[in-house]
Amino acid sequence: MASFVVVGAGLSGLVCAARLIRAGHEALVLEAQPAVGGRLRPIVTEHGPLEPAVGEIGEGDVNLRALVAALGLEPKESPLVERSHALVLGGKLHRPPPLRPWEVLVPRLSPRIDRPIDAVFWRRPRWRLRRGVVRGLWDASRKRGVEVPDSVRALDDQTWSRASIRAFGTRWCATRLAPALLARTGLDLSAESAAIVVMMLVRLWSGGGRTLPLAGGLASLVERLAAALPVRLGARVEALESTAEGVRVRYRTGGREESVFADAAVVALPPSEILRVCPKLTPAERGHLESFQPRRAIVVHRFVSDPAWLLRGLAGVTFVPGEIPDMRDLRILGRPSPSSSSSPSSSLSPDPFWIRISFERESVDEHWGLSDQVLIAKVDAAFRGSPIGDLPAGPSRVERIPELMSVQGRGALERRALFECRSERSPRLAFATEAFTTPDLEGRVTAGMRGAAAAIDSLGDVPVRAEGGGANADPPGERP
Ligand SMILES: Cc1cc2nc3c(=O)[nH]c(=O)nc-3n(C[C@H](O)[C@H](O)[C@H](O)COP(=O)(O)OP(=O)(O)OC[C@H]3O[C@@H](n4cnc5c(N)ncnc54)[C@H](O)[C@@H]3O)c2cc1C
Repeated sequence: MASFVVVGAGLSGLVCAARLIRAGHEALVLEAQPAVGGRLRPIVTEHGPLEPAVGEIGEGDVNLRALVAALGLEPKESPLVERSHALVLGGKLHRPPPLRPWEVLVPRLSPRIDRPIDAVFWRRPRWRLRRGVVRGLWDASRKRGVEVPDSVRALDDQTWSRASIRAFGTRWCATRLAPALLARTGLDLSAESAAIVVMMLVRLWSGGGRTLPLAGGLASLVERLAAALPVRLGARVEALESTAEGVRVRYRTGGREESVFADAAVVALPPSEILRVCPKLTPAERGHLESFQPRRAIVVHRFVSDPAWLLRGLAGVTFVPGEIPDMRDLRILGRPSPSSSSSPSSSLSPDPFWIRISFERESVDEHWGLSDQVLIAKVDAAFRGSPIGDLPAGPSRVERIPELMSVQGRGALERRALFECRSERSPRLAFATEAFTTPDLEGRVTAGMRGAAAAIDSLGDVPVRAEGGGANADPPGERP
């Protein structure tokens, strides 16, 4: 039995620690905040908890589904949900049907959302270039295991927006593909490597685009996971020193400096934070982590209790660029009851819920320093007179997120492969970060699982301390 320290109690860190313990090892999780969950942690408001991401899992998310089932959170009676995502284009609200796999093969037969799209978008598809993307999707859906097919690798040198627009044309990408992906991931994937997005699309389709509502939402997932783990809250890690004998982790807790020594450590933090707490990474490790671009975001949440609101029952709405100034999309968080028109009984006692309005990537920097009141007023003004109508009145909450996601960008798979076979590695150190997988919830779970496997591998054949010699907190004053 070996001892491990896992730094960070976000979804990736918790999954990683659970895997290590299941493999018969000892694991201690150190978390800077007073609660687990990381960026999935619910925001406490006077109107109840606000979950920042959508508590639904894709039917094709194999690792996430296995985890949810193991924790007993898979809803028994609740059917798979197929909520649609609407689109604002040409001053109108469109409700296109969900994207189907055959549309990629024959996009010309897909439901059209016309006028005045040609005035906005002009780039026509190039059928020759479409073959590469279709081939990648086909190969990825047939290939089992961790090996990435060559046809997917071939897409790695382009961004997703370039590859998809050249292959399918701007019209179809803007009206069918981009909204479907945004509805599923909640993230802007345009600058991501096309190879990475193709793998996400395959998962989306392998589950028929349907999602499963998570009993108790994402909060239950992280809390249930953490309940069986030794987690030290309020412990902010300052530095990790890894040697051939083990890893010393220095952290601050309650104003004191502490340290813990373990056979190996897993760092489950965003790439920028890994660079901060691991000052002695090898050049290959540092270079790889520096290649990620942190993407910050501003989101405005609004509490909706109006039972007759137009968008009840939808997953959200995407705004084609320029349709609603500075805004990118609106997502409905939690599980809204069906629209009042389709279900008279639910209209009697519809549940209130939160919506999230995200600022357009290009306008985030310009708005970053504005006060909450100004941002809320801007959002209300942007929707006034829009096809959605005024936003329903209600309490608002503004969040500025310094690193919503880390964009891996063009060449991500190639850089990752070089990283994985690097000859110079920090001894006994592994990483469980979003930067090594796809940028969705399934990717976070996979990152945790891979981090655990890499940490066990990092021990090699070298002897580890005997059973019972787990991660040791040094008594204060005895640190070297
Ligand atoms: C508003 C919002 C919306 C989102 N929407 C989506 C979505 O729709 N789909 C999606 O896939 N993702 C979404 N995300 C992103 C998603 O939540 C994160 O990518 C995911 O939670 C990352 O998990 P993680 O475990 O890798 O990292 P994190 O959740 O960031 O966990 C890292 C943990 O480490 C802790 N920590 C940091 N520094 C230290 C330190 N020095 N010492 C000890 N502990 C430390 C942090 O407190 C945190 O608990 C959203 C995030 C936000 C905020």
